[in-house]
Amino acid sequence: MSTVIKNGQLFIGDQIESGDLLIEKGKIVAIGQSLTGDNEIDAGGKLVSPGLVDVHVHYRDPGQTNKENVQTGSKAAAHGGFTTVGAMPNVTPVPNTPELMSEMVKNNQEHGVVHIMQYGPITTDEIGDKIPDYHGLKEAGCFALSNDGKGVQSAQTMYLAMQQAKKNNLVIAEHAQDDSLFNLGVINEGKKAEEFGMRPVTELAETTQIARDLLLAQKTGVRYHICHVSTEKSVALVRLAKKAGINVTCEVAPHHLLIADYDIPANDGNYKMNPPLRSKADQQALIEGLLDGTIDMIATDHAPHTQEDKAGGFAKAAFGITGSETVFSELYTYFVKIGVFSLTQLLKWLTAKPAEAFGLSQAGRIALGQPADIAIFDLNSCHKIAEADYLSKGANTPFTGDEVYGQTSMTIVDGKVVYQKEGN
Ligand SMILES: [Zn+2]
Repeated sequence: MSTVIKNGQLFIGDQIESGDLLIEKGKIVAIGQSLTGDNEIDAGGKLVSPGLVDVHVHYRDPGQTNKENVQTGSKAAAHGGFTTVGAMPNVTPVPNTPELMSEMVKNNQEHGVVHIMQYGPITTDEIGDKIPDYHGLKEAGCFALSNDGKGVQSAQTMYLAMQQAKKNNLVIAEHAQDDSLFNLGVINEGKKAEEFGMRPVTELAETTQIARDLLLAQKTGVRYHICHVSTEKSVALVRLAKKAGINVTCEVAPHHLLIADYDIPANDGNYKMNPPLRSKADQQALIEGLLDGTIDMIATDHAPHTQEDKAGGFAKAAFGITGSETVFSELYTYFVKIGVFSLTQLLKWLTAKPAEAFGLSQAGRIALGQPADIAIFDLNSCHKIAEADYLSKGANTPFTGDEVYGQTSMTIVDGKVVYQKEGN
C-alpha cells in the first residue's frame, strides 16, 4: 500500500518547489513529478513541510492529567503540524530512575500520536543537588536532560551535572533561573509591573545564570542548550559564547516573539508565563537573534493549565500558556506575511534546526528513506483561532480569536494520518 501526496509546494533542503511525494511502509521512497500511488492526497496549492519539531512541551502525564495527558498533548501537537516533540520531566513522579523513565517512554509510545522524546531531570526531582544515574536514564530512553520550570541553583551541582552529561553524550537543556533574583516575581520588571502594582521579575534572574552556565559549558565541553531565552542580554551572551566556540544552542518561545509586556491588556492570567513577557527592546533583540543565527530554533513551551489554575489575574495564576496549536499560523501570519521572516527561515527554525541541535536524525527533513513525517499547511485561507478547535485540554493562550493564515490541513507520522482538518 502506497500513498502519494500530489502537487504540493514541498519544502526540501533550503527550497520550496512543486512536486509529489511517494510514501511506502512509513518512509519517503520517491520525490518528483507525476508520481502515482494506491492512495492520493491532493496538496494542490498547499505547503508540504517536514513535520515540525518542538523540543519543549509539557504533557503533565503522570501526575496532573486533568491539565493534559500524552494523548491530548500529542493530538494538539499533530493539530499544530508537529510530528516530533520533547516532553519535559516536571511530572509526578519525576522520572529520576531508569524504571520510571521506561514507564514514561512506554506511555509516550503507546498513547502518543506523534514521536515523543522524553527528557530526564538534571537533578533528582528537579530540586537540590543529587544527580541521577544519567547512564541508566539514557539506556531507558531518555534523550536529553532538563529541570525545566526550575533553574539549577548551585553552580557546583551544575558543573558536576555537565561533566556527567558530557560523559553520557546527553544535551543539558537549561531553564535559566536564579531563584534569589527571581524573588517570587510574577511579571517583568518595568512599567507594566508598576502599573499593575505587582511583584517584578528582574531579567538578571535569567541572564546571570546563563552567564554562569556558559562558562561551565566551556569548561566541560557539554552540549548546552538554553530554553526560552527572553532578554536582549541573553541573546548577546549567546552571541559572544558562539564566537568563543562554546557548544551552545538556544530556543525562543513564540509568545516572546509575538508580544511584549507592553501588550498585556489587563490583569489577565493568560499573559502570565515564565520567563515573563519582556520589553519591546527584548522582543526586537529576539527577532534579530533568530535572523542572525544566534537563536537556533523556535520551541513552544506548550504548558496547558485548567481554567481555575489561570484565574485570579497575575498574582494567583499558574505560569505558562499553550502553544502547539497556534505557533505556525501565528508566526506565519505576523512575521512571514509581512516580510520579517522568509517562509523557509521560519520552517528551518521549526524543523531542521531543532532536529540537528538534538541529534534527531530521523526528524525535521524531507528526504529519501526518511520517515514519512509530514505537515500540510493551507497558507491561502484565513481562519479565526477558536477555543472549540483545540485538541489540548488547555485553552490558556492569549492568541484565541486571532485571525490567521497557515492552518494545518493534515499531519502524517510514519506514513499514517494523525490529524486531518474537517472537510479536508
Ligand atoms: Zn522553562
